[in-house]
Amino acid sequence: MKFPALKIPSTPAELIPPIRAWTGPLTEELVRSPGGFGLGQIPDRVTPDDTTTMVCGFCSTGCGLNVHLKDGQAINLSADATYPVNLGMACPKGWEALTPLSAPDRGTTPLVRRRRGGPLESCDWESAMVLFCEEFKALKAKHGPESVAFLSTGQITTEEMAFLGCLFKIGMGFIHCDSNTRQCMATAHVAYKQSFGFDAPPYTYADFEESDVLVFIGSNPCIAHPIMWQRVMRNPHSPEILVVDPRATETAMAATQHYAIQPKSDLTLLYGLAHLLIEMDAVRREFIEAHTTGFEEFAEFVRAFSPRHVSAAAGISEERLRHFAQTIADGKRVSFWWTMGVNQGHESTRTAQAIINLALMTGSIGRPGTGANSITGQCNAMGSRIFANITSLLGAHDANDDADRAKIAGILGIDESAIPREPSMAYDEIVRGIAEGKIKGLWVIATNSSHSWIHQSEFNALLERLDFLVVQDLYSTTETAQRADLFLPAAGWGEKEGTLINSERRIGLIKKIRRAPGQALSDFHICQLIAHYWGCAAQFARWTSPEAAFALLKEVSRNQPNDMTGIRDYHHIDAEGGIQWPLPEASLSRATHSIEHGQEHDCENRISTERRLFEDGRFFTPDGRARFLFDEPRAMPEPPDDEYPFILLTGRGTSSQWHTNTRTGKSDVLRKLYPAHCYVEIHPTDARRLGIRPNSPVQLASRRAKIRAAAFVTPTVQPGQIFVPMHYREVNTLTFPAFDPHSRQPAYKACAVSVAAL
Ligand code: SF4
Repeated sequence: MKFPALKIPSTPAELIPPIRAWTGPLTEELVRSPGGFGLGQIPDRVTPDDTTTMVCGFCSTGCGLNVHLKDGQAINLSADATYPVNLGMACPKGWEALTPLSAPDRGTTPLVRRRRGGPLESCDWESAMVLFCEEFKALKAKHGPESVAFLSTGQITTEEMAFLGCLFKIGMGFIHCDSNTRQCMATAHVAYKQSFGFDAPPYTYADFEESDVLVFIGSNPCIAHPIMWQRVMRNPHSPEILVVDPRATETAMAATQHYAIQPKSDLTLLYGLAHLLIEMDAVRREFIEAHTTGFEEFAEFVRAFSPRHVSAAAGISEERLRHFAQTIADGKRVSFWWTMGVNQGHESTRTAQAIINLALMTGSIGRPGTGANSITGQCNAMGSRIFANITSLLGAHDANDDADRAKIAGILGIDESAIPREPSMAYDEIVRGIAEGKIKGLWVIATNSSHSWIHQSEFNALLERLDFLVVQDLYSTTETAQRADLFLPAAGWGEKEGTLINSERRIGLIKKIRRAPGQALSDFHICQLIAHYWGCAAQFARWTSPEAAFALLKEVSRNQPNDMTGIRDYHHIDAEGGIQWPLPEASLSRATHSIEHGQEHDCENRISTERRLFEDGRFFTPDGRARFLFDEPRAMPEPPDDEYPFILLTGRGTSSQWHTNTRTGKSDVLRKLYPAHCYVEIHPTDARRLGIRPNSPVQLASRRAKIRAAAFVTPTVQPGQIFVPMHYREVNTLTFPAFDPHSRQPAYKACAVSVAAL
């Protein structure tokens, strides 16, 4: 037995140490505590027979969806034609957003595993909270504040992730926590912070329509961000669309130019383009001199990246390289876009910065249709990057800066000394900490690490070493939840309210339009309960509701690059169709004036629905200048060899799948839109040579695992390369655990494998 059969106290006096701080029983009042979340009623911002608009909770596009209610029940939804993001469009996931909420495997009560190898059994919230606090407090007492970590998500609201990060570090007194945004957006975060002085994607979606040259690097928006791709399709300028990708993806097929480079030669290619642009004198010297530093050193560095050298490394002819550079040089409004093909690489931060360098040297930033633009992954990755209190102090502040500490402590109403100064371990370091016996307890929130983490079998074996694993999720059936000692049932999108921040920095609202099943509670409410049972509720007295938390976060943002003090409240976000940051308080009076006088559509002071950063050429670095940052390219961590001669590429499979299929797998409609079982794309030449026929079973092997997949014989992959979608559980048993040294993001995109017919 891992821990004794749970003793459920009937009165506070029976509580065993160290839960003495617990202050009373779980009451109906606490369960229905302020804010209308959890088990409460539909809040007054939604009426029972109405249509209300909220943002989608899957990807970072942040589409507006109309949810139609009848008798207080959400019965259907449609895409909002007035929302400035999607303009009446939605992808299959959005149309099916309500379906996963009714899945039969929703967690409806907390579950506890009373003995190792035993089943998860239902228990009540009081028992769950007592156990949660008892186990984690015991680990802290015995092994110290570094012995428990959490792994969180970019899928919960900004208010929830901020509460979670503050609760864990300030209230519970732990240090190490990270989020699954480490798996998708850590690179963009670090690259922007180093180059621009703040994690600041500069663009607005109108830029898709205003460019005359769009360059997509490691990005397949047709599948991964289909509504963004629809915005590209609305571009009236007959733009050149350039795609850099080893595969002939759906986006590459729709492009005007496709550069099918060798995997992980992107950094070399980008330096080669910089070399050619300098050679062609296609750089904007006045912009470089006025607004950047480090260009001369960069220009000297890229002298070595001759077309001949780059052509050999990337597998692109010198003539095509010159055509690529010439297209950029000829563009008036050139925009650069990147996604996971860049972010999930072993030298991803420098690759992202090589893209930023191209935008800076050509002056392609701060103007319509331009920018070095990272397309974010999850619906609230941007909220996590700024407000999760993980990699930086809440709101991108510095935990070792006295003024920042005093500011945050004052806003939260806490003692400044409660804020830890120690940096948190990154996700991979937390995993390593489990392996080394330093991390004994783990709390996983709204992410399915047992499926999604790189080198999955090692990760899952390490979970067995934990003394206590808590999983908080909508579903008790995820691969991670099935390994939990304690499962906490969470409310999902549509069952709570709060804000999400999309790729273009737009803060959107989600609303409670249905009741969570059984006893499931919002993550915000679970944080309130934990604070109560842990005995630190006094530190969170100001976090009475999501909207109260949003008011705190507004103050946190004051005078920061993401200042959103001009947003009045949730109703304001609703009325404006989402609001991009920054919106300092000075904007508030003007916006109020325009709305109060019914002049929303023609008042010149109305908040613009499409705003981009750096129009004045000033960046967020201390000297206001953007930085040229660069490094020598490094070899692929696990190149192919005689034993494992293929390069495995991974990525998104269809627009109907989301991550580990935890939600999209619940929809009959969506399941019909993608293959049920794992498949592998393989080039016809390789298939012929290996005796592999279409749809026949094959074995894929890496140094870490062997899996079975069905062969999809297609010329969209190059000879010597294969592609497997990331959504199938098997794929991450194969992947190689390499990490970018700056962002600690896993390099999912390329490792060595063998292929054999079965
Ligand atoms: Fe939702 Fe993204 Fe699809 Fe829009 S594109 S409907 S935000 S999943």
